[in-house]
Amino acid sequence: MAFCVAIDGPAAAGKGTIARAVAAHFGFAHLDTGLLYRAVGRRMLAGERPEDAAAALAPDDLADENALRRPEIADAASKVAVIPEVRAALVDFQRAFAARAGGAVLDGRDIGTVICPDARVKLFVTASPETRAERRFAELTGRGIAAEYEDVLADVRARDARDSARATAPLVAAPDATLLDTTTLSIEAAVAEAVRLVGAGRP
Ligand code: C5P
Repeated sequence: MAFCVAIDGPAAAGKGTIARAVAAHFGFAHLDTGLLYRAVGRRMLAGERPEDAAAALAPDDLADENALRRPEIADAASKVAVIPEVRAALVDFQRAFAARAGGAVLDGRDIGTVICPDARVKLFVTASPETRAERRFAELTGRGIAAEYEDVLADVRARDARDSARATAPLVAAPDATLLDTTTLSIEAAVAEAVRLVGAGRP
């Protein structure tokens, strides 16, 4: 069976950074599954039905990552992500990616619970809402996107609530996931711990 690493957790906990670093360290492919929901959200904002957008999603939709990172797209993503038909339309692509022969790291909200329940290593990455808002604020301003800290914190809390409360594939740690709280960890320390945990799960 292919070696799949599932990394889940709330917005801005450090999943993406950790997932990219783990993939680079072990030579695995990496899929940020949030981009799929963001791409559907962007098409919804352009007037399309989210269900149709998810069914028609193409590689081109993921090309402009900087645009997909914008806060209004994140908000739209968490709205389309509550729609069961949208989630269902994205399952096959994610599972095919997870089954890649060379190994794969997927990060998102439901990778260890729904997409890859048999993942060889599952991490649930968290941090306090304030820490996550600080990181997201720094990331946005670093990309030249104007933002206010209080707005970013409110957005983090709103998305947490929506992601945790939805009926289909809510944000919840798989029972067999290892919790990695990055509130007081530097990026380097968080990555080192994740690499250690994944290394321990390798055959
Ligand atoms: O991880 P990111 O912030 O890019 O995700 C954007 C939104 O997409 C999340 O707030 C969540 O609602 C949704 N999402 C999801 N399941 C995933 C990945 C993202 O529902 N596996």
